Formats: sequence, structure tokens, C-alpha cells
Amino acid sequence: MTTKTEFKQRASELRDLINKYNYLYYVTDNPEVTDSEYDRLFTELKQLEQQYPELLTNDSPTQRVGGQALDKFSQITHALPMLSLDNVFDADEFEAFDQRVRDWLNTSETQIYAAEPKLDGLAISIRYEHGLLVQAATRGDGTVGEDVTVNVRTIPTVPLRLQGYNIPEVIEIRGEIFMPKEGFEKLNQAQISADKKPFVNPRNAAAGSLRQLDSKITATRPLAIYCYGIGEIVGMEAPESHSAAMKQLEQWGCRISPELKQVEGIQGALDYITYLGDKRDSLPYDIDGVVFKVDKVALQQRLGFVARAPRWAIAHKFPAQEEMTVVEDIEIQVGRTGALTPVARLKPVFVGGVTVSNATLHNEDEIRRKDVRVGDTVIVRRAGDVIPEVVQVVPSKRTAESYEFVMPSTCPICGSDVERIEGEAKARCTGGLYCGAQRKEAIKHFASRKAFDIDGLGDKIVEQLVDAGFIKDVADLFHLTVEQLSSLERMGDKSAENLVTALTASKQTKFARFLYSLGIREVGEATARSLASHFLTLDGLIQANEESLIEIEDVGPVVAHHIVTFFEQSHNREVIQRLLDAGISWPEEQKIAADSALSGKTIVLTGTLDKLSRSEAKEKLLALGAKVAGSVSKKTDFVVAGRDAGSKLTKAESLGISVVDETTLIEWLN
Ligand code: NAD
Repeated sequence: MTTKTEFKQRASELRDLINKYNYLYYVTDNPEVTDSEYDRLFTELKQLEQQYPELLTNDSPTQRVGGQALDKFSQITHALPMLSLDNVFDADEFEAFDQRVRDWLNTSETQIYAAEPKLDGLAISIRYEHGLLVQAATRGDGTVGEDVTVNVRTIPTVPLRLQGYNIPEVIEIRGEIFMPKEGFEKLNQAQISADKKPFVNPRNAAAGSLRQLDSKITATRPLAIYCYGIGEIVGMEAPESHSAAMKQLEQWGCRISPELKQVEGIQGALDYITYLGDKRDSLPYDIDGVVFKVDKVALQQRLGFVARAPRWAIAHKFPAQEEMTVVEDIEIQVGRTGALTPVARLKPVFVGGVTVSNATLHNEDEIRRKDVRVGDTVIVRRAGDVIPEVVQVVPSKRTAESYEFVMPSTCPICGSDVERIEGEAKARCTGGLYCGAQRKEAIKHFASRKAFDIDGLGDKIVEQLVDAGFIKDVADLFHLTVEQLSSLERMGDKSAENLVTALTASKQTKFARFLYSLGIREVGEATARSLASHFLTLDGLIQANEESLIEIEDVGPVVAHHIVTFFEQSHNREVIQRLLDAGISWPEEQKIAADSALSGKTIVLTGTLDKLSRSEAKEKLLALGAKVAGSVSKKTDFVVAGRDAGSKLTKAESLGISVVDETTLIEWLN
């Protein structure tokens, strides 16, 4: 049974924890736990204090605004305190708030609320005198804030001078400074590239950017503002409602939320929550809920405030997009193209509206940068349809049992070597022809037009064949039977027969096509052609080392490395052997003599040759590195004219191109 002493101790524990988290969040802009965890502790403390009022201390965090003004800035005492907001988390709690408002006002009338997004940034108070921006302060502890005037002046959406008419002598405009999602992503990319710690979320990025001693840094950060209130006002009657005040601010050139709406009573508020909740992910900035304010200022004044928050406003929080959980393991997933992605297996946690049990860790560098270890407590983020992500580790919850992840040196699917090329983030499996994870892609590539060009073997059929277990690799294709094929969905006997015929016909190929079809990383058609004409035989290529490979046009050190590693994998070589056993063959390659006199020359053959056929002559010329063209142009170097040559000969003569006879051609070929 829980005793009073235990409650007392728990309250003290909660106060210490909340104070610690407040410090990390407000002072260092570097929170250690999620907002949801913080909110749970805060709610627990509030409930304890409500139940046992004697536990309530004057310095309890439930009685104060959470922040603190830093000494590194000059301090500004707010003319009117800057308060926080009380939270509700569901419809029942909102109804209770509405009931309290009506009780205090002693009315049963439906209340009109101004509803707007609860922006996830930091509160600012901007003072204008005679329309000119003279001072800007953070909220701090609600009474004293930090002077960030120079920094606020760098924010493009903050007017330096109010525009239009009836501008009061003094007006203090309040709003939220935030960082739009897109700017946040870019800033974090830049932080990572510069080897600096990225920000945990847009709120902390905004707070960290605004509270810079050097305003030049603030000026480079993508900050923006939405105004949502008025503090002190001198020389003008305050507008009679929140909605009217916002309209007035807009006329003076201040940015206000385009989502601001008046809603009626509980139903109006709940509809607005649904409306904005649906829109949350598509908004260009982060919001963590909806703020409802009793619209009429006269009623706000009657309601007043308690401790740290006004009685006339409430924040309805949305479900958290960040939660804490434990990394139970880190496993490797092999993608269709062989890329290895480490994935954190998590203790299931409800976040962003779903239960999440896996989160991507992207790659090895990312794991090291975040220092995620198996056994760690981490913050997981899931916003909208984006894949859940591990945001950071909670260092204070690391135990001695946690251990570092080691990237495997062999593929967990097929056992081939794993390699990581310098400068690339992803490690990859090198067993492209064999690996189960890469099977479908490898076979689709093999069957494609520029590779084996197998008529009738489209992507869908490849998928069906793999799923049915009929093929495991490309060599299995040549053992498919008509019966197997015709058992596939939407495949008639005739089509099955045609496909078997196409497979048989495709066995006669070219060496270059064969090389291209193997799907070696970064070996495209042109490289495959260079390799074929350089090495002439498959054995020659398989035995080549990186040094000899880089000598070839088109082949750099990375490609050379990919080729050597590919052929080093015994599984890949086995599949190749099975392809050859199945009858794949190609005509012998002819060596192109780069040093021959005909190399690079364009030659046209015309008329009848007596001693060799046209196609023989063509083959031999190609083998010597010449190009054989079908028509005469200025680019032609020689025309070989046989018997009865006609118009091509005439054209050559008119263009002044050298003409030789068959005897000269044979001398050249010899
Ligand atoms: P709050 O953020 O819940 O609400 C008050 C603030 O809301 C205002 O100061 C203002 O900045 C902001 N706001 C945004 N849109 C507004 C609008 N349209 N109208 C009026 N105000 C608007 O309260 P808080 O006291 O600033 O902070 C408490 C919250 O901060 C906690 O609930 C938690 O989510 C978070 N927090 C987290 C940690 C942590 O360690 N993760 C620590 C402390 C606080």
C-alpha cells in the first residue's frame, strides 16, 4: 500500500525531474526527454498536488512558467507577465475546461472561442513605440526575459515598423517564433556536413537560433513568426476581442495564422481539432496542438489567471509524434539493390497514431553519429507517413549492458562479402547474381532489352516466377518448362511455349551483352563493350586485377573494384558457370588493334568485291578499329570501290574523297 510518505517522496522526485528537464529544454535548448514524457510527469505532479494540497510547494514547477533568462543576454522585465497555457489531452478534458469557464462566468451560454494552431516554437514579445520596433524579449521565467532585439530584427517576417493607421504610442505584440520544416531539414543537413550536432527538432532549432549572441548567425537561420496576442498597449483602447485584435495586427503588417477561426462551444472546438489534426502533417511547420481562447476580452479580464496560466485559454495537445522506447536489437535489412540498412527493433511504442516496433537507422555513420547502442533508451519520431526514425539516445538511461552495433562483413541473406566504397554512406552486398534479397531485380535486369532481351519475360512474370519458387537466379530461367510457365496467372499455353522459345533463342548472345546482363555495379552498356573488346574472353576478364582494369577506357578505380569484387564471390561465379552449362554462348570477340593504320577511319564499301564478301570485309575492318558506314559524306575517309560501283563512287569523286580498289583493301587487311 502506498503511504503518504511515499506520495511526498514521489512529489519531490517529480519536482526535481521536471526542474532538470525544464533547465535542459529552456536554458540549453537541448531536451533529454520527449514532450510527452515531460507532460506525463507534469500531469502526475499536478494530480498529486490536487489530491494532497499539503504537498504543494511555492516553488513547484506547476506554479511557475518553466523558463529562465540567461545571463549572457541583458534582461528585460515584462510590462505584463508572459504566461504559459494549461493543457488538455482529450474531448472530456476540453469539456471540463468549457464547464469551468461557464461556471466562473456564471453563465450557461455557449462560449465563443478563437481557435488557432499551437505553434511549436518559442514565445516572443516585441515592443513597438510610435510604430517602430524598439525591443524584443523571450519569455524567460514569465516575468524577466532575455533581450534578443538585434536577433529578432533579422527575421524577415517581423515588421521593423508597423504600417497603416491608428498605431498606438506603445504596443507590445506577442507571438511565436518558429522554424518551418523545410528550413529545419536544410539547416540540419548543413550542420551534419559541417560536422556539427544537428538539432533534435524544429522547436529547439528555433530556440537555439534566436538565442545566439551573434545576430549574424540568427540572420542565416530560416526563422518566421506568427503573432497571437497583445501585451501592454498605451494610447489606444485594446480591441474588444481576440479575433478583432488579430485583424488589427494584420492591418499593421504583422503575420497572423491563416488558420485562425472563431468556433462556437464544445462542438465547434472539437470539429476544429479534427480539422487541424487532419491538416497537421501537410502544414509547412510543426504544431503540437490547438489553442482555444475565450474570444471576448471583457470576459478574459473577468476570468483572469492562476499561477502560471490564464483561465481563459487552453491548449488541446495533439497525440505525440515523439516517444521514448528501448532498442532491443539492431538488425540488417538488405534492399533490392543490395544496400544494407540497419534497422532498430524497438520495444513496441504508440507514437504518431500507430504502434511502432521498427525504426530505420539509415547507415553505419548515422548510428555512430547518434551513438545508438543495443539496449539504449531512445526517442523515436513518427510524423505523418514518414518512416519512423530514431531521433536521439537518452544518455542518462544508458545501462552497462548496452553494446555497440557492428556492421557485418558478410551479407546476412546470402553470405557474400559486404563492401563499402569510400565516400558512400551505404554498405552493399556483392552477391548480386545470387543474393535472395536482390533476386527479383537481378532477374529483371538480366531479361531486359539491352541485356538478354527475352521477349515476353516482363517484370510481373519475373515476380511471379520467383514467388512461385520456380527460379532462384538467372540460370534457372533456362530450365523453365512450358508446364511451369502455363501455371502462372494470365499465361496461356501458347504464350508459355513462346517464352520457352524466346529463352532458347536468347542463349546466342554477344559477350558485351552478357557482361552487361550480370548487373555488376556501375557496369553499363558502354563499359561492358569496352571490357568485351579488351579482354575478348570471360576467363581473361575474371582473372583481371584492378590495375589492369583501370587501364581500360571508361573504367575508373571504383568500377574496377566493383568488377573484381563481383567475380571474387564464389556464388556469382557458380551462377555464371550454370549459365554457360545451360548453353549461353557468343561469337568470339575480335581484337581491335588500336595501333592499326585504319583505326578510327570511316570507310564506305561499294560495288562488287571478287575475293571476299562485303560482310567479311566489314568484319575485318571493324576488327582493325575502322568504322564502316553505309553512305558517303564529308566525314568519309576512304571509299573502297569494287566492280560496277555506281553513285557512291561518283559522290566520293565529287567530294574529293580518296578511292581505293579491292587489291589495296586486301593489302591493308593483311
Ligand atoms: P506550452 O508550450 O504548452 O504553452 C504555452 C506556449 O505556447 C506559449 O508560451 C507560446 O509560446 C506557445 N503558443 C504557441 N501557439 C500559441 C498560440 N496560438 N497562442 C498562445 N500561445 C501559443 O507551455 P510552455 O510552458 O511553454 O512549455 C511547456 C511544454 O513545453 C510542455 O508541455 C512540453 O511539451 C514542453 N517541454 C518539454 C520539455 C522536455 O524536456 N521535453 C521540458 C519542458 C517543457
